Amino acid sequence: MKVRLSSPLQQDSIVDGEGIRMVVWMQGCIHNCPGCHNKKTHSLKGGFEKDIAELKEEIAAVKNNDGITLTGGDPLLQVKQSLEIASFSKSIGLNVWCYTGFTYEQLLVMANSNPLIKELLLNVDVLIDGKFILDEKSSDLMFRGSANQRVINVKESLKKDRVVLVTKYIKKKVNKKPFIKEKHLFL
Ligand code: SF4
Repeated sequence: MKVRLSSPLQQDSIVDGEGIRMVVWMQGCIHNCPGCHNKKTHSLKGGFEKDIAELKEEIAAVKNNDGITLTGGDPLLQVKQSLEIASFSKSIGLNVWCYTGFTYEQLLVMANSNPLIKELLLNVDVLIDGKFILDEKSSDLMFRGSANQRVINVKESLKKDRVVLVTKYIKKKVNKKPFIKEKHLFL
């Protein structure tokens, strides 16, 4: 299976989720958020194709990263590939974060006609959902660009049948120091 990416696998990111993370930059987005800072990822035919088996080997070879983040672009537009990457990452002990321009509620509706979306959610620890809204932009938010977006604990949300936020990220940043890994930091 091939996945369409906008950039090679990134390592050692401290801004795309908790801890030190690999980042998979998926190509393709349909949301057209005004003010998007990543327009080169929009074209559904842009970027380059990569064999998922090769990407998995690269992921498995990375040392000292805590998790993996699927972003882009919108990873939900390549849901089969995102599921493959997320489930593999979980199988080797990585936690999985995923960014999407769809809301959590929209994804649940979409999952009724595409069960792969539910499968993907079952393999995602934290979902940052919703379009980027320029009027709600703030540099003080943790791991999200605009205040409408939510940092969602997916497991708890599915279990309780309502959106459960990761409470420690509801508040604004208190400083701009790099995020340091602490005990019990991960879900
Ligand atoms: S969802 Fe993300 S990548 Fe897509 S247009 Fe909005 S900000 Fe840009």
